[in-house]
Amino acid sequence: MSLNKEIATVGIDMGGTKIAACPFVNGELLKDQEIREATPQNDSEAILQTMASMVEKLKSQHDIKAVGISTAGIVSNDGTMIGGCGNIKGWKGTKVKSELESRLGLPVEVENDANCAALAEATVGCAKEFNPVLLVIVGTGIGGGIVWGDKVWRGANYAGGEIGHIKLNDKQARRCTCGDWDCWESYASGTGLQNTAHLYFADPTMDNYKLMDLHHKGDETAIEVMNTWHHYLALGMASVINTLDPEAVVVSGGMAQFINYTKLNKKVRDKAVDALKDKINILEGELGNDSGMVGAACLANFAAQQTAVPA
Ligand SMILES: [Zn+2]
Repeated sequence: MSLNKEIATVGIDMGGTKIAACPFVNGELLKDQEIREATPQNDSEAILQTMASMVEKLKSQHDIKAVGISTAGIVSNDGTMIGGCGNIKGWKGTKVKSELESRLGLPVEVENDANCAALAEATVGCAKEFNPVLLVIVGTGIGGGIVWGDKVWRGANYAGGEIGHIKLNDKQARRCTCGDWDCWESYASGTGLQNTAHLYFADPTMDNYKLMDLHHKGDETAIEVMNTWHHYLALGMASVINTLDPEAVVVSGGMAQFINYTKLNKKVRDKAVDALKDKINILEGELGNDSGMVGAACLANFAAQQTAVPA
């Protein structure tokens, strides 16, 4: 299914401190009409009320046909928050889809934020000509999403696409945020880069800003650290590419801007199976912080097409 640009929807970005809602009209977010509210803490009923009133406000300005919500956490197929809600307190267990649909009288789609971001880049972003699409989010950790056709790979337990926890080795050298050892994200995320830098520099205050500054000035140690980071990025990326054979890999997140894509493409090509070596296509995402909201709005657009009654 492709986007029907005649259908207006609302995309909501649900965060631990703020909720943002924006109309999505003619295939674009109308950012000048975005509204924001503080996230009510430990009170899912107040969160639902806040979202409903934000949508009502936007409905008075546009002919909104459906609503999409991008949120941290694992979302079941019936739109219930079933776990891992990050810093959104009181959100777990909330039947977001059914509660909002009954309040708004509109179709409501709820999806994990990384999955939304992947769908956004694959539908209206830099990978709209490609299929399947793998999104790799490189920030403090590593997240991901897999889109095939217009569908997100959700998995049997709604936790598909957790590529950050690919095991790079069994040395028990680096503890991961998941509690296990030596996951890809503990080497190739922003945190992983900083940890690598500490192995090379005695300076205990060394962080990624200082590292980038030194790299920019041509410091040989900083260049080596950055080469090692690209090596780690390539190890995990090649594993996923060998598994999924995506037509394009989109990289986004706070660390994406520090990647040398020519270098990464070459390193991934060296690790990919022969059949894929000449097909590697790694792109930098173009939707930035809006990608979750855009993906949610796209999901809402698809839902509205499915529920529309033919004239
Ligand atoms: Zn892990």
